[in-house]
Amino acid sequence: MDFARYFVHYPEGIQSQVEQLITSGQLKQYFERKYPNAHQLQNEKALYEFTNQLKQRYLKNAPKLNSVKYKKQADLVKNALGTHTFKSHQHGGKLKAKHEIAIAAQLKQAPEALLKVLVVHELAHFKEKDHNKAFYQLCCHMEPDYHQLELDLRLFLVLQELELSFY
Ligand SMILES: [Zn+2]
Repeated sequence: MDFARYFVHYPEGIQSQVEQLITSGQLKQYFERKYPNAHQLQNEKALYEFTNQLKQRYLKNAPKLNSVKYKKQADLVKNALGTHTFKSHQHGGKLKAKHEIAIAAQLKQAPEALLKVLVVHELAHFKEKDHNKAFYQLCCHMEPDYHQLELDLRLFLVLQELELSFY
């Protein structure tokens, strides 16, 4: 299997570290040490509350978050792991926007830190539509370890593909 596709945007040094971790057969151990437990957010109510608490803390003035759902994603490379959609609609003569976040169902059995990094990413799209510098600054404000966790999230996809996930 070719896992390099998950890591194409990383510097070469990181890509070779990742390759080493996977080919040496130590990926599972890496996760067992670093993330021994799975999160408990098994239903969408719990997922919504978790997300909305982060939103209340860091994005107090952002519009209402309408829903957060787990959604099956077929291809995680082509399709994003998460999405943040804004649907505008007329309501009583006013233009209102509906904010919905979808989280890949693959993250339902996962460490909390990795679910969180995805939630933080999608919440940051309230402020910034593009993946620009301001966007990543906001991500790091909400989660200081954002970049490492995003890399670990990709490693988690490899763990799942290898059917080594124990969550
Ligand atoms: Zn994004």
